[in-house]
Amino acid sequence: MASLFVSDLHLESAAMWAVDTFVAFLRGPARAASRLYILGDLYEAWVGDDQLDDPGSMEAHVTRELAQLTASGTTCYLLHGNRDFLLGARFAATTKIVLLPDPVIAELEGTPTLLTHGDILCTEDAAYQELRSIVRTEPWQRRFLRLPRATRIELASAARAGSRAHMQRAQPMIMDVNERAVLAAFRASHTRRMIHGHTHRPAVHEHDVDGAPATRIVLDSWHERGSYLRVCNNAIESISLPGAPE
Ligand code: MN
Repeated sequence: MASLFVSDLHLESAAMWAVDTFVAFLRGPARAASRLYILGDLYEAWVGDDQLDDPGSMEAHVTRELAQLTASGTTCYLLHGNRDFLLGARFAATTKIVLLPDPVIAELEGTPTLLTHGDILCTEDAAYQELRSIVRTEPWQRRFLRLPRATRIELASAARAGSRAHMQRAQPMIMDVNERAVLAAFRASHTRRMIHGHTHRPAVHEHDVDGAPATRIVLDSWHERGSYLRVCNNAIESISLPGAPE
């Protein structure tokens, strides 16, 4: 039975192509698989699980589809991305998705594989790593979640605007993973295969970890081009969806 991997869906109601193709994917290929791994940034923004309060929202719609997938027997795992790191206990209970720490080692057909969203590997972006170390703490999140939802939405949209400006200013290299961080992650986890997203630069990289070969698979970003990775009987293939928007 297959394990499927997706990342960087960045679902938002302003871009329904990604939402609709994801729902079709959940009803089709994901249902035939034994496991689905969502490696972060499922949603473009998540300011707290009370985003599920409105049953007519895009978020609630996707959540219901995820619940139907897990009810059908596909085990579904999710790592937080930098956009949706506040996906919490209510989201997990509603969808029956297993929230995983980042990074985490998954046994895939006997091969231990390191899974991460990928942002922790972008160590050259010091400003981002500093921000990350603050917003991923429990006290910061508790304070943030106590704010009125409208305030949280405003702050999140200001943060996204700030992040876009930062990405335009920064050197492209800084926004990619750092080779030393990649090697350190392989060494610390004793794995020789890694799958991540975040950079939106799909590729298969071969690394030399102290003389041993290691493979790093970077997933495509669903909202830009739409594709998923399929691991079955130790064959790994990337499957593209037709009709991605320009
Ligand atoms: Mn990301």
